[in-house]
Amino acid sequence: MKMTVLGPWGGYPKAGEASAGYLFQSEGYNLLIDCGSGVLAKLQHHLSVEELDSVIISHYHPDHIADVGVLYHGRLIQSKTKYELPVLPIYGHSHDEAGFNNLGHEPYTEARSYTEEDRLELGPFSITFQKTKHPVVCFAMRITDGKHTVVFTADSSYIKEFEVFSAGADLLISECNLYADMDGSKMGHMNSTDAATIASAANVSTLMLTHLPHFGELSDLQKDAKHYFDGEVVLASTGLVWDSEEEI
Ligand SMILES: [Zn+2]
Ligand SMILES: [Zn+2]
Repeated sequence: MKMTVLGPWGGYPKAGEASAGYLFQSEGYNLLIDCGSGVLAKLQHHLSVEELDSVIISHYHPDHIADVGVLYHGRLIQSKTKYELPVLPIYGHSHDEAGFNNLGHEPYTEARSYTEEDRLELGPFSITFQKTKHPVVCFAMRITDGKHTVVFTADSSYIKEFEVFSAGADLLISECNLYADMDGSKMGHMNSTDAATIASAANVSTLMLTHLPHFGELSDLQKDAKHYFDGEVVLASTGLVWDSEEEI
């Protein structure tokens, strides 16, 4: 399994970069998790919009869905100019009806709902969900291709449930929107200590810190996390690839 960071930024993208977006690839299948601002431009460094097989959205904050509309445009334009593409399924929860209804523009993209009880089977991937603690309803995802497992926390403050949900994962992609001395419990975000605590309790191999803040010294996030987690800690960055067959 290969995972490529398309957008490491929380809230909004830095100049020339993107907010939340992660490309998962296995056995020729291309799955996009979240589709934030700038993600479509970054995606095309790796594959064309017509090569995408499905999309899952964690929640309906703009930094996770801003490019859903232009993704529809991309599929429409390629369908008209090249060849007719199959409808692109975009999965989202239906706790927010307006947010969910905005995902689909048929016949190019189609909104499909998931719930916390579901196990989505998409190509080689099997995905389960965990509700997070965030100002709007949001779901973390555990993604496996049968050989390797990646957990993505999406947006959340620390919840104990993450420790079981992430158990034994090869990679934990944890949001880390705050520095160690900042309390995210009311904001719906985590700091570096929270992320490392989960990684340690869940005994994951690698912790990747993402949804990065636009202030402070980012390397401090990594330094602090290393105090609480013995495994590998990496900072997400645009284009960074995690490949289950290789070391980062
Ligand atoms: Zn966010
Ligand atoms: Zn959010």
